[in-house]
Amino acid sequence: MKEEFIRALKNNDLNVMKTIPKSDLHNHSARGGNIKYIEDWIGKSIARPSDKFKNLHEMQLWNNKNINPLFRGLLGYEKRIEAAFAQAQNDGIKVLNMSIDADVIFHYGYQVEKLIDQLERLHHSFAPNVIFIPEIGFKTSTHIDIMCLLLELALSKKYFKSIDVYGNEPTIPTLKKVYRRAKEKGLILKAHVGEFGTADLVKKAVEELELDQVQHGIAAASSKSVMKWLNDNKIQLNVCPTSNVLLSRVEKYNVHPIRKLYDNGVKVTINTDDMLIFNKSVSEEFLNLYDAGVFNAVELNEIRLNGLADYLHV
Ligand SMILES: [Zn+2]
Repeated sequence: MKEEFIRALKNNDLNVMKTIPKSDLHNHSARGGNIKYIEDWIGKSIARPSDKFKNLHEMQLWNNKNINPLFRGLLGYEKRIEAAFAQAQNDGIKVLNMSIDADVIFHYGYQVEKLIDQLERLHHSFAPNVIFIPEIGFKTSTHIDIMCLLLELALSKKYFKSIDVYGNEPTIPTLKKVYRRAKEKGLILKAHVGEFGTADLVKKAVEELELDQVQHGIAAASSKSVMKWLNDNKIQLNVCPTSNVLLSRVEKYNVHPIRKLYDNGVKVTINTDDMLIFNKSVSEEFLNLYDAGVFNAVELNEIRLNGLADYLHV
């Protein structure tokens, strides 16, 4: 598979690239579908962002205007999830660690088993070749008491295997209670940090929440000592290059700090974040990093295997 992957990169062959096993470990499910898939469903074209977003708030406004109105109620929600599974299947994603926002339990009358039934149905119908690792996700704006209640509901069935928080950079002391409980239950601990915040915040979040993996974490590249610490502690960063460029965190691919992280021994993976907005698959992310000269093909293959190693014998 290594030789095929390397050849696909060198030939810029997206079709072959899509047949090679990859992972997506940073995927927000409801925004994880392919725009064309949704366009076929609604029978009309959907706007693409015309320029980079200045910040997360600007992206949210654009999303509220252009994407959210397309999806109504429970049917709309399940179509989003269907599209995310279909995208993973189509792109040759072998391991999909996809985040399900805890707020959606509300759609199912707070009966988590009904949500799980639908997730299983959609997984088996639209992504039968994909190993799905369900993740329970929380917005950092959710009140801690609500978070704790939703976590207990989610954990009442042994279904979710990891936890993530996202939105504005987390207030770490508040979240400790949630992460302790998730750790007790054996979940993989992840959080969005270091997308907008600092290297020190990445280290603090990993230390205090006992994270196994960081979503983004690219700010760590500004500190040699934090990168060394992440390497020493085998902390994986699930990086989303196009998201970072379109959210104005990074000017362009060829100066993406993922290179510096890699050179300093930090374990990285390549992921999509929000395909419905950023419109780049994992296969395309690999091709873009290769074309921009950020990594050579052998290095990209090593990064591809990073995302599979915990779940497959590769
Ligand atoms: Zn994200």
